[in-house]
Amino acid sequence: MKILIINAGSSSLKYQFMESEGGEVFAKGLCERIGIDGRLTHKVPGREDVKQDIPMPTHSEAIQAVLDIMVDPQKGVIASTDEIAAVGHRVLHGGMAFTKSCIIDDACIAAIEKCIPLGPLHNPANLMGIRACQAIMPNTPQVAVFDTAFHMTMPPKAYIYAIPYEYYEKDDVRRYGFHGTSHRYVSARAIDMLGNPEHSKVICCHLGNGSSLSAVVDGKCVDTTMGLGPLAGFPMGTRSGDVDATILEYLMGRYGYDIKEMLNILNKKSGVLGISGVSSDFRDLDDAAAQGNERAALALEKFVYEVKKFIGAYASAMGGVDAIVFTAGIGENSCDLRQKICEGLSYMGVEMDAEKNNVRGKEVDVSAAGSKVKVFVIPTNEELMIAMDTAELCKK
Ligand code: AMP
Repeated sequence: MKILIINAGSSSLKYQFMESEGGEVFAKGLCERIGIDGRLTHKVPGREDVKQDIPMPTHSEAIQAVLDIMVDPQKGVIASTDEIAAVGHRVLHGGMAFTKSCIIDDACIAAIEKCIPLGPLHNPANLMGIRACQAIMPNTPQVAVFDTAFHMTMPPKAYIYAIPYEYYEKDDVRRYGFHGTSHRYVSARAIDMLGNPEHSKVICCHLGNGSSLSAVVDGKCVDTTMGLGPLAGFPMGTRSGDVDATILEYLMGRYGYDIKEMLNILNKKSGVLGISGVSSDFRDLDDAAAQGNERAALALEKFVYEVKKFIGAYASAMGGVDAIVFTAGIGENSCDLRQKICEGLSYMGVEMDAEKNNVRGKEVDVSAAGSKVKVFVIPTNEELMIAMDTAELCKK
């Protein structure tokens, strides 16, 4: 089935048009500066990229621009928009309402709206993308795929916060977790690579600009590092990860920050950028550390240390581990960080093969022969998951 995948942000919209069976990508691209002026970048495999300035006052014009270029006789890939069998939307926060993907109808939209307080930046943008598609393609089925859904199998002991229980009961305060579509894809691939054992324990390390780990038992998530929001866990590009709440009170008192300013610091100025003062990009940090920048080296060391700690914690929580998976920008590309994260884990049965680990962006078993725990590099493919969910729900 040919599926259009939409990932709508507040001023941008990513799209990919692909086959749900086999995953062939026909076209993909990005609308930027929505609400400002509007720019479209359209990519078709084997052709030169197309860049166009197109006015995009709202997401509707952006979607229309995507459909126009898809049917363009020269730049397009289809003769008519009727060839788009369905649209799959990436939605950030499904709260407690969504444990899996669903066909978008009025009830689904109302439930996504109800989750806006939990995902105040992303859910309104996701809804704009959905509404624009509904208006322009009223007869094409639409599906919502949630970043939180895969984590909804966590047991209460993993998702409950140790604050008064009424905040969970009345206000839905709990751990939700994110990158769920990626964790779902790579954990399923890992189980496949393990030879589909009846029982499996997998730790997925999604290490990108935003990063999270998940613990997956028999294909079901039992814990993850992100929380009510994506700020939680270990240090990321610009996000702090878990911090002692006392720091907030201390700095807000000392510098007169309000909560917005404080959260801006924790979301945008912290993580490896905050420690290093150099960059949020791990390639820049590698270069700076190689030139003797001690804070860049410390930022990398801190990142490795915290990921290693969570791997230990999750192995302990699951009572063992069969496979550790590395995915996303850093996980797929940084041989050095993978090596450092797995260093010293031989007590757990993790033995890496340095030569096999010299790989980027490919699905490979990089563990040493005889390693009790397998180490896999698995490029994530959230779009394929969204396309497969969309096709499956539409066929039903
Ligand atoms: P993502 O958010 O998954 O697109 O990942 C983006 C991050 O991947 C960037 O910020 C880089 O820090 C990191 N990255 C990409 N390629 C490499 C590489 N070869 N070595 C280290 N980090 C990389």
